[in-house]
Amino acid sequence: MKITKVTSHILQHDLGEELGYSQQWYAKRTAHLVEVETDEGITGWGECFGPGNVALANKTIVEQVIQPMILGHSPLDRELLWNKAYNLMRDHGQKGMPIQALSGIDIALWDIAGKVAGLPLYDLIGGKCRERLNVYGYGMMLRKVADLAGAFEEEAARIKDAGFRATKMKVGLGPREDVKLVEAVRRGVGDGFRFMVDANHCYTTNDAFYVGRALEELDVYWFEEPVAPEDHAGYRELRAGLKVNISGGEAEFTRWGWRPLLENRCVDIAQPEVCGLGGISEYMKVLALCHAHFTPVINHVWGSAVAVATNMHLITAMPDLPGGLFQAQPMLEFDTTLNKFRDEMLAEPLNIQGQVAKNKGTVALPSGPGLGIEIDRGFLEAYKIA
Ligand code: CA
Repeated sequence: MKITKVTSHILQHDLGEELGYSQQWYAKRTAHLVEVETDEGITGWGECFGPGNVALANKTIVEQVIQPMILGHSPLDRELLWNKAYNLMRDHGQKGMPIQALSGIDIALWDIAGKVAGLPLYDLIGGKCRERLNVYGYGMMLRKVADLAGAFEEEAARIKDAGFRATKMKVGLGPREDVKLVEAVRRGVGDGFRFMVDANHCYTTNDAFYVGRALEELDVYWFEEPVAPEDHAGYRELRAGLKVNISGGEAEFTRWGWRPLLENRCVDIAQPEVCGLGGISEYMKVLALCHAHFTPVINHVWGSAVAVATNMHLITAMPDLPGGLFQAQPMLEFDTTLNKFRDEMLAEPLNIQGQVAKNKGTVALPSGPGLGIEIDRGFLEAYKIA
């Protein structure tokens, strides 16, 4: 079997309202899907992390830089191809967009491997470690409304009522305003319900300490990306000085990027992004590295149904750490804001929201060979911008 073609599909739709996180506002949803075709009619799908114009640039890397390196090779030679592409791109970027581009291709190669074997991805990478997956629903994006705290309070209550196991909010207005938003979310969900706070690295270490102490008072479960991903010393000080769990890692790449993050004891909870850090081949190495440092993993999930399905397999196959009768379980991250590429792109939708509502915040395992998904080609063409 040989790889005959690699295609990036960039999809986009309007959100109808500007949403924000601490770094920027956005009004469009983008998805970057990668399709790998073979001479035996089997096609694999993957996804690259990176919204908006980043996706357009990554398409060029997928099709014009990496595609020529892998055409004509067996799609089953995943390690060979990953290392060939990485080695040839190393001088031009060991993190960031080249690795995001490689991620989508690697995921598609695993989808092909599963289809060839007739096995779901989770069986290829180690088998089932659980029968159902817990889901947390994130929302509370920044919005341009008069009473943001009031809006957050209502939205948090809505996500809890939808059945999710936990929720997550954004901050980013500045430390003092942010604490008011967190208080509003606690009012919305009531005492005892688990929620998390995501700063998208907008604070200095000192500001993060101010916010982090308030999060402890409000019984927040984790404090995500409090400081810049490069600031390992800041992470380390926060982790040593705060009781709230410090989480991060979605902006880190490959085993070589993750190694110092873990060795410097930066995070209580690791959040690898499979569509960015190098794909499934590299995710498995990063997972092993996290577990070697006794750091639990709760995957970062963002994007279309391809990314969600990929993560459902990875979480299915993730071993318990450290193990025990009442072992804390990983959760599937689920964005509750409008995303047609997640909800409407598959011939048979994943229906995460419907399952969560009916089954106490859990979803069934994916089924079918590879990622177990079938893309609706008509839908793809309707939203394709490049
Ligand atoms: Ca995040």
